[in-house]
Amino acid sequence: MQALPVEQARRDILQAVTPIDCPRKVALRTALGGVLAEDILSTIDVPSSDNSAMDGFAVTAVDLPDSGTTALRVIGTSLAGTPFTGPVSPGEAVRIMTGAVIPAGCDAVIMQEQAEYEGERLRIGSGHRTGQNIRRAGEDLSRGQVALAKGHRMQPADLGLLASLGIAEVRIQRPLRVAFFSTGDELRSVGEPLQSGQVYDSNRYTLLGMLSRLGADIIDMGVVPDQPAAIREAFVRAAAAADVVITSGGVSVGEADYVKQELDEVGKISFWKIAMKPGRPLAFGCIGSTAFFGLPGNPVAVMVTFYQFVQPALRSMSGETQVTHPQFRVPCESPLKKRTGRTEFQRGILDRDEQGQWRVRKTGAQGSGVLSSMSSANCFIVLPPESTQVTPGDLVLVEPFYGLV
Ligand code: AMP
Ligand code: MG
Repeated sequence: MQALPVEQARRDILQAVTPIDCPRKVALRTALGGVLAEDILSTIDVPSSDNSAMDGFAVTAVDLPDSGTTALRVIGTSLAGTPFTGPVSPGEAVRIMTGAVIPAGCDAVIMQEQAEYEGERLRIGSGHRTGQNIRRAGEDLSRGQVALAKGHRMQPADLGLLASLGIAEVRIQRPLRVAFFSTGDELRSVGEPLQSGQVYDSNRYTLLGMLSRLGADIIDMGVVPDQPAAIREAFVRAAAAADVVITSGGVSVGEADYVKQELDEVGKISFWKIAMKPGRPLAFGCIGSTAFFGLPGNPVAVMVTFYQFVQPALRSMSGETQVTHPQFRVPCESPLKKRTGRTEFQRGILDRDEQGQWRVRKTGAQGSGVLSSMSSANCFIVLPPESTQVTPGDLVLVEPFYGLV
């Protein structure tokens, strides 16, 4: 079987999944992490009126001297929340605070540090220009403009932005329901005693963590033994309860038989060999209307395949429109070796050198079962299929975990 390039597998998966369309109205306070189900249009100008960006004095432009100084009379005060209501004529100025409305007739604000003043008397010098230190009405958002687009995942700034529009409720898509279980006769759950040859099931915990970050409703179905009837029963139960079913283990050649055989009975599944390391085998398909991902068993492979394939798919299913991961190039300090023809996701530590330049080095052992290589990393070093090796100083592509959500 020809190995499938990573990009193609991701494209095929993204094309096959369908976004849910199940909007519900929630209070703005609880919308963080939710995916907007509608465009949010600004109902007002933000800011609603021209206001001062500084503490100082509002003046008319005709009074700004080209050279020398001008004396003006201070006729009142404009505070944030308590505007000065009268008109201002040439020769006059208004004491003004940051955020206060610019009085009618004024078209510049002189910073208080640049003025001499005592009581009603104000003296200003040259070098000022019309419009300075004024924040214009609508400069943040103007009425009718799309403030946030449908498919945007709500960030902290967005809560503030919608609050600045006076919006108290938003329509977001409901969370995805994701069921997962691990397969393997050797697996024990945390809390159970471990016999020789057995391992604790860690994949359900990394999956729990990665899915929690996406705000999914999680159904943890535990460990399922390598038995056809048990596996089939788990698939049917999971598919009935969830939008997505994720399993780990049992998809490598030779071992895949039960999973494959049972999945063929209950759904439509393809088994892929992907040109990548770690994480070569991957099963993808559906059980009825439920999407299915069969991840490999090795703990690092689970995380890599989740981030590269499952996470973008889940984000797309959640209604999110922008699902690509940020990547950039930095010099690599470690020598790296790899085989051509496959994409490798090595685990890296991104930091800055003494000059403040970003750089990356690999974490220790890179085996696909070495979960500590993920724990001590803060990024993937993504090595493309054509590359064979990296010598220290070469630029490499990194994908920060921070940007993976
Ligand atoms: P498999 O893909 O089932 O052949 O598993 C590959 C390797 O990953 C084996 O060493 C398994 O013991 C290990 N493994 C499988 N599932 C898990 C799991 N849930 N937690 C930790 N290790 C696992
Ligand atoms: Mg197994």
